Amino acid sequence: MENVISHSHLSSQSIIPFKNQEELGGLLKELARDYASKEILILNRFEGRKFQKCPGSPEMICCNYYLLNTCFNCLYNCTYCFLNSYLNSFGITQFINLEELLPAIESFASENDKIIRVGTGEYTDSLMYDEITGIAKNLIEGTAHIENLFLEFKTKSSLVDHLLNIPKKGNAVLAWTLNTDRNIELYEEGASSLRERLAAAKRAQDSGFLIALHFDPIIRYDNFLEEYGAVIDSIFEILSPDGIVWISLGCFRYSPGFKDIIKHEFPKERLTKDELFPSIDGKYKYLKEERIKIFTFFKERIESFSKTPYIYLCMEDSQIWKEVFGYDFNSPEDLEAHMGTYLKEVFL
Ligand code: SF4
Repeated sequence: MENVISHSHLSSQSIIPFKNQEELGGLLKELARDYASKEILILNRFEGRKFQKCPGSPEMICCNYYLLNTCFNCLYNCTYCFLNSYLNSFGITQFINLEELLPAIESFASENDKIIRVGTGEYTDSLMYDEITGIAKNLIEGTAHIENLFLEFKTKSSLVDHLLNIPKKGNAVLAWTLNTDRNIELYEEGASSLRERLAAAKRAQDSGFLIALHFDPIIRYDNFLEEYGAVIDSIFEILSPDGIVWISLGCFRYSPGFKDIIKHEFPKERLTKDELFPSIDGKYKYLKEERIKIFTFFKERIESFSKTPYIYLCMEDSQIWKEVFGYDFNSPEDLEAHMGTYLKEVFL
């Protein structure tokens, strides 16, 4: 496939070939005058690391998740998205040289007897146009035989129907990031509604996929716990807990500088009016006591329905783990091992 830029605007649509990064840079500069970033699709080779460990956050207990870089940027427009901090990233870049992904996963899985969790949804939404690219189907079918792999596709869409008939799903996990209706409406422009996401998760679960859920970011407002509690109730009305492998929890946080960027990009947003405080990993977060209260609420509400999904915190320190769960971890490897043992016992 040759490197091209495609842009669409109302009735016009064009495809422009380019030869190298320099030419691409010049073209994007010109296009940025007339088009919004998300109207531009760049089909390009990616020469960096396509398979890597999640960089995590210093001093935090991370879960040693692995990332597959398949695309950079997203069709949706979440106010809190950290991709907004990449000022120079104009357009959605779909990588086209993905043929080495499968061998990379295979050799990594065969060199390790631990459980590994890998996902494509770090710098994009895994399923936003996957029915066109076919990336998920290819990866699911190609890795279904790898027993120690949980391959996760994280989305805020409801676009799963093209995957439901895959006969061998292995341990592939279709995952939804959830929020309250209020936060979805205010901060997740273009993504599916909560009802649509849960209905898609139900179709995926009925077809035999494992499911994962992510409450990240949890955003405070008046009554927020009551409304998040209702979301948790809906999950267990709709989905069977026995097929939910993990649920992650993360409170709204941002890196220094982010606030100014989103004030400029989303001038009417109220997201950063709440007071956040610098944490030891350099990010701004809600106060520790407040985070402990929030995570404890989520854990107890989820466990009132089922203790099967493995609940974990995204980028929190061991003190918060101890307060919320009664135990903590010394390192990301400890959390990884604990989670891996659990997943193996319960789901394999
Ligand atoms: S769906 Fe994810 S990647 Fe896309 S804009 Fe929202 S937070 Fe960013």
